[in-house]
Amino acid sequence: MVFAYDTEESLQAAVELVNAAEPPVTLVTVAELEAFFDRNGYTGRHDRTRAELEQVLALQPRLRELLVADRDSAARLVNEMLADAGAVPQLVRHPPVDWHIHAVPADAPLATRILVETAMAMIDVIREDELSRLAVCADSDCEGLVLDLSRNRSRRYCSTTCSNRNAQAAHRARRTGQAATV
Ligand SMILES: [Zn+2]
Ligand SMILES: [Zn+2]
Repeated sequence: MVFAYDTEESLQAAVELVNAAEPPVTLVTVAELEAFFDRNGYTGRHDRTRAELEQVLALQPRLRELLVADRDSAARLVNEMLADAGAVPQLVRHPPVDWHIHAVPADAPLATRILVETAMAMIDVIREDELSRLAVCADSDCEGLVLDLSRNRSRRYCSTTCSNRNAQAAHRARRTGQAATV
């Protein structure tokens, strides 16, 4: 594991949320937000309303800016986000997770908790100088974000769709190259 469990979970959820804005656009219904909530192991307040969905979607540009920022800009953004939210880090333990940090109460709006969790996760990324773990997809037509938590830093594409498309293109280019030399 590159980062602590809750840091990796928060980063994964943030990247998923940002990438939901890329085609094919997802997370457009309250039901999809509910699935996102469950899939990413969120606990605490969940209104299941259109207003909550809109607040969460409104985070996409701010999270994107933070996740692809250079180290000094990311530090400034994290400080702003934590101050705006009045974040107070507290150790909490709730099933199935052992002691970890929450910095806003469980009854704070979901969008606030996602923003603060992402900012808290970025503290680890910045301190360990691991911002290269976050990048824009290597596909030339894709703006999706890639979170590379692999040991050998081998992830370049945001999705299997992008990685398959590029593998096929590389294969075709090799075949064309061979045909040209024959
Ligand atoms: Zn928790
Ligand atoms: Zn992609």
